[in-house]
Amino acid sequence: MLNIHRKAAAIDNNNIDAALDTPALLCDKAYINGQWVSGEKTLTVTNPADGSVLGTVPNLGSKETQRAIKAAEDAYPKWAGMLAKERGDILRRWADLMRENKDDLALLMTLEQGKPLSESLGEIEYAAGFFEWFGEEGKRAYGDTIPSHLHGSKMMVSKHPVGVTAAITPWNFPSAMITRKAGAALAAGCTMIVRPASETPYSALALAVLAEQAGVPEGVFSVLTGDAREIAKTLCDSPVIKKISFTGSTEVGRILLQQSAASVKKMSMELGGHAPFIAFDDCDIDKAVKGAIGAKFATTGQDCLAANRIYVHDDIYDEFAKKYTEATRAMVLGNGLDDKVDLGPLMSKSAVEKCEEHVKDALDKGATLLCGGQKDEQGELFYQATVLGDVTPDMKIYTEETFGPVAPLVKFSDEQAVIQAANDTIYGLAAYVYSDNIRRAHRVADALEYGMVGVNTPKFTGPSIPFGGMKQSGLGREGSHQGLDDYMETKYVCLGDLYGD
Ligand code: NAP
Repeated sequence: MLNIHRKAAAIDNNNIDAALDTPALLCDKAYINGQWVSGEKTLTVTNPADGSVLGTVPNLGSKETQRAIKAAEDAYPKWAGMLAKERGDILRRWADLMRENKDDLALLMTLEQGKPLSESLGEIEYAAGFFEWFGEEGKRAYGDTIPSHLHGSKMMVSKHPVGVTAAITPWNFPSAMITRKAGAALAAGCTMIVRPASETPYSALALAVLAEQAGVPEGVFSVLTGDAREIAKTLCDSPVIKKISFTGSTEVGRILLQQSAASVKKMSMELGGHAPFIAFDDCDIDKAVKGAIGAKFATTGQDCLAANRIYVHDDIYDEFAKKYTEATRAMVLGNGLDDKVDLGPLMSKSAVEKCEEHVKDALDKGATLLCGGQKDEQGELFYQATVLGDVTPDMKIYTEETFGPVAPLVKFSDEQAVIQAANDTIYGLAAYVYSDNIRRAHRVADALEYGMVGVNTPKFTGPSIPFGGMKQSGLGREGSHQGLDDYMETKYVCLGDLYGD
């Protein structure tokens, strides 16, 4: 048993402090301008595994948001004026602190989000990687010189931070969605205000505790807990905020874009997904089954990258369906603190209801239930890992993002037809292709209208890759040098009359 599992087992009645090596990481105050701030009202944070109350955080609104904006504006010139190396040193210290405290951070994440501890530990490493990587990449925000088209002129292009920025983040990746944005923003020289999801504020506040220890100056990184609509509207309306990065549903993304129109700011949108997973008849079936398990059930299916239409070629369908169903049945559902668990609870009743709705609708229209298909007796937020066979385009699950542990298998026989079907959606975040025919793999990856394609792998994310979607899955990219560029403005300077003639 790993040390973290011993600590998890010691958590009794959510007496979390006793289980943490550093109890100060469990913080119930918001963080504005380097100060820990309480609120007149509070929001309650619960453990989705058993509904128990973990604690509260301040329910802040417009007034406190204005304070955070002012602090970020005041802190901006000094932070932007530092050397990229100096900012990078702080970001790397922050990453080191995350790794030193990874067990505590993972425990907090599992308690408020529900995901298995192994996944929480994986997310902490993934999240720390963004601080480390962007801390280095900030030094490489190179400009250009352009061969002049005007006599006696020199033309130079340089990059500059956009200014004060904000991030609005979801609950499914409570740390990584913050560090992916804050790492790029701070490395570029921007300051940032983060508004984490109401369900998972403790992971965000723990990051603020470590930011302070890493030496992030006051006002450079603030965390506001509270009313999503009020805080977001204030951020969108503010002319001081020069960029907002949002990860969440396409629906809320549209609202933020509309609200920000008047102040014309940069927007990055990491929105919903509806990933196709295509297993061709020339794939390694065992590897495809394993890949489709990972692509569907990570984060208990509550993942924007989750495979939501698993297309399987006719010739391998029966074998694939049998093996996939066996592998799904073998997964253990339970409290994420338990070291044997593969799947945790869902985040809300509405998430469970959506799984129920998609399954019922599919079965009513002729799908086959291969396993699961109902709520689990462990608690009201537990839904069984489910496989549906013979799914067809008229079913809701075929066109809507489920965001839960329900895997729909769809038969296909023709390469062109499956590409067309996979692209026939407003979404374009991630897609998966399994084929051992290298020409087909390239051909299909090229034809898929998706920002990211995993060929023979369900895993492709990391700090150095451009994460993002096409169509209504988003705008802009996070991670990679493109993610850094999204926090920078391009300035062109033309120096004329060099020779005085
Ligand atoms: P969500 O409902 O859009 O919420 C995301 C964030 O927006 C939360 O902080 C939420 O606050 C806030 N919010 C909700 N309503 C708002 C409003 N009217 N104005 C301003 N802010 C508002 O999404 P979710 O259910 O948390 O996350 C699931 C979605 O995120 C899925 O569609 C998934 O595909 C997408 N996602 C995308 C990516 C990506 O990189 N493309 C990554 C992860 C998730 P509250 O918590 O207070 O409601």
